[in-house]
Amino acid sequence: MLRLLVISVLWADSPDNVWPISDVVARFQTVAAWYAEASYGRLTLVPTVAPFVRATTTSANANADTLLHISSDLGGPLKASGFDTTKFDRIIYIVPRIASVGPKGFTFGSSMVLNCGGSDYVTFGAIHELGHSLGLAHAQSLRVGGRNGKVMTSALIPPTRRTRCPMRKSGLISARMTNRNSDGSRRQSGTARARPTN
Ligand SMILES: [Zn+2]
Repeated sequence: MLRLLVISVLWADSPDNVWPISDVVARFQTVAAWYAEASYGRLTLVPTVAPFVRATTTSANANADTLLHISSDLGGPLKASGFDTTKFDRIIYIVPRIASVGPKGFTFGSSMVLNCGGSDYVTFGAIHELGHSLGLAHAQSLRVGGRNGKVMTSALIPPTRRTRCPMRKSGLISARMTNRNSDGSRRQSGTARARPTN
C-alpha cells in the first residue's frame, strides 16, 4: 500500500478555488485504478486529497526553485490544516501553472510537483511522476543484434535511445522485477534529483 497525499496549491495571489477539489479526487481515483491494473493488483495507491493550501510566494515570483522547495513554503499552512506529511509515502503538489517553468512535472525523492493544475494533464502527469518516484524509467527503444524494438525499461541493459514517455504497463512490470534486490527487497530509487516530465 502506498499512502499518497495530494495537495492543491494556491500562489499567494491566486484566486480561491482555481479548480474543483472534487475533480482532483476523481482524477486520483483514475490514477489509483491505473496502478492497480498495471501492477496486476500488487500496488494499492491510497490517495488522500487535501483542500487548497496557500503558498507565501506570488505567481510572479514563483520559479523552478520555488517548485523544488514548495514543501518548506507550505510547511506552516499544511501543519495548521492538520496534515502531517511524514505520515505519507508520497506527496504530490499540484500548482497553478508557472509558465516560465517548462516541464509540467518534477519528481524529487518522495515528492512530486505537477505544474499543470486545473488541466487535463494532471491525471497523466501524476501517473508519470509516480512512476519516476517508484524507480521506473521511460519506455525505451533498444537495438539488439541488428533489430530495433521497444522494450521495457531495465536496469540490466543500457538504453541506446530514449523515446518520449509514456511508461507502459510492460515497463511497470519489468521495472518492478528489476527493482528488486536478489533477496526480494525493493531497491532504493534515486533521490534528490529532480526529473522533469519527458
Ligand atoms: Zn518522465
